[in-house]
Amino acid sequence: MKIAFIGLGNMGGGMAANLAKAGHEVRAFDLSQDALAAAKQAGCETFGSARAACEEAEAVVSMLPNGAIVRDVYRTDVIGQAPAGAVFLDCSTIDVATAREVSERATEAGYDMVDAPVSGGIAAANGGTLTFMVGGTGTAFKRAEPILQAMGKAVIHAGDAGNGQAAKICNNMLLAIHMIGTCEAFSMAEKLGLDAQTFYDISSVSSGQNWSMTSYCPVPGVGPTSPSDSEYQGGFASALMLKDLRLAMEAADNADAAVPMGARAASLYEDFNGAGNGGLDFSAIIKML
Ligand code: NAD
Repeated sequence: MKIAFIGLGNMGGGMAANLAKAGHEVRAFDLSQDALAAAKQAGCETFGSARAACEEAEAVVSMLPNGAIVRDVYRTDVIGQAPAGAVFLDCSTIDVATAREVSERATEAGYDMVDAPVSGGIAAANGGTLTFMVGGTGTAFKRAEPILQAMGKAVIHAGDAGNGQAAKICNNMLLAIHMIGTCEAFSMAEKLGLDAQTFYDISSVSSGQNWSMTSYCPVPGVGPTSPSDSEYQGGFASALMLKDLRLAMEAADNADAAVPMGARAASLYEDFNGAGNGGLDFSAIIKML
């Protein structure tokens, strides 16, 4: 299948390479020459503009930094430029409102479109083991599913347009909340004279058990290997967690949803990022707590 791929950064680079590996004809574009060179090495054909990449494409995949860029790229280079009948898959993490707006414009112009944000970081993008949360009509989902399967291990239909983004930000808000809760509990245990490993042994088989504790422990040397064991390098950057929490707060505002814990988590990550820690894995917030 001829697939245009726009946005070949940390995530998109590996995803485009996996589509090429699966036998697709990948028509790649990025503003960065380095990213284009890497895509070429990985078996993609490269183009000088998004518009040129979209010509002849049966599907368009995008993995871009934010909603404003996604809106812009689809308006100027994708909608009306890709052949009639193409299917669009935006895998970027963006706000729900923009995802619904872009999808509506694409649908009005006769295309099928899904929002398909991912769970999993750069390693999962490279390894083809991402989880995709997909919003769009049943028809759009059916068309997008085999393309997403070539880049991931799980593809889940979350409902209509924008619901993929809704699932992503609700999930990441919950992740931030239980990470902070886990950090607080470990810090307090230490202050009360309880050894971290002992607390882990007890809590990981008790009612406090959660993913941040047993799969991604913020305390070095405790639990399975995680970014805390390498000075909080790699993993999921605090800056990206803050981006997702801001999107969650915006969506909560629009939907009139009460999110007191999410709001507190967002404010703690604002403080942590503001102190120059945006490049550290999000579990490093234990240092501040
Ligand atoms: P990145 O900054 O590494 O990559 C973005 C790429 O988009 C860059 O190469 C940039 O040159 C390109 N770009 C920007 N504007 C463009 C335009 N107009 N046309 C073409 N290319 C353009 O970011 P990333 O880490 O790959 O993240 C991409 C998306 O994935 C974001 O929405 C992010 O929130 C989401 N995400 C990232 C991670 C992660 O761990 N990095 C995890 C889950 C989701």
